[in-house]
Amino acid sequence: MQKDQFFTRRRMILAGAAALGASAGTAGTILAGGAEKTPRRAAAPVPGPQARPALKGSAFRLRPLTGDGPPRAAPRRLKVRKEPILQISGRGRHMMLTFDDGPNPDYTPHILDTLAKYDVRAMFFVCGECVADDRDLVARMADEGHVVGNHTWTHPLLTTLNRKEIHSEMARTSDIIEDTCGERPQWFRAPYGAWNRAAFQLGAEMGMEPMAWTVDTTDWMEPGTDTIVDRVERGAAPGVVVLSHDAGGDRSQTVHAIREWLPHLIDSGYHLTVPRRRV
Ligand SMILES: [Zn+2]
Repeated sequence: MQKDQFFTRRRMILAGAAALGASAGTAGTILAGGAEKTPRRAAAPVPGPQARPALKGSAFRLRPLTGDGPPRAAPRRLKVRKEPILQISGRGRHMMLTFDDGPNPDYTPHILDTLAKYDVRAMFFVCGECVADDRDLVARMADEGHVVGNHTWTHPLLTTLNRKEIHSEMARTSDIIEDTCGERPQWFRAPYGAWNRAAFQLGAEMGMEPMAWTVDTTDWMEPGTDTIVDRVERGAAPGVVVLSHDAGGDRSQTVHAIREWLPHLIDSGYHLTVPRRRV
């Protein structure tokens, strides 16, 4: 696929940016929570006309002009961080698995199957343009208890965009995730791990925490299944956030590797978890 090749080329150029994003500054942490087992709605119900709150004249003028859907609830504003979260905290041997750049019909279903086989929940940072192509897969993620995060619409290097462009990349993606899964994402990951002030500020305005990672499997370089397995197993430690990819190139090594390393981690006593949901 041309798009995959484009992703891969950009990754090769920007490999350093990802490493920088993962290692810069003090490690941020977030509390680990139990895996969510309650199935979510596949889509938000569309309220009838009587369900909409009456809008005052001034509020009406302030409504965004984009989209024809019902007005969206304002997200809870969060504290603006200066660094992304790099690991999770909590008692015991908790780790978190994250998969970026999907969904992709060739790879994502296999990863979901493996996670389901071991009753493990993970985070998927999806790109809006891929969601638009495979909404059923993203609905499946949410239905099976995984956390769906925002990874922008087209996977750009945010540090090359102006604030309005960054806003559009993030907001469109949150909108399609909400339309597909029934709720807005609470987590955001900058492509290539390349964050800037605007990304932190806009993420906080949209109610999303910035999530980076601790261990990069480097699966995007297609180093071989054994190398990917080795990187996860050597990197395993309490609080570690693992970065893998379910799209953006040939991810068959990722698919094969998780079938090996996931049961090994579980046998080693690790609990693969996702953060607690905010209410
Ligand atoms: Zn990415």
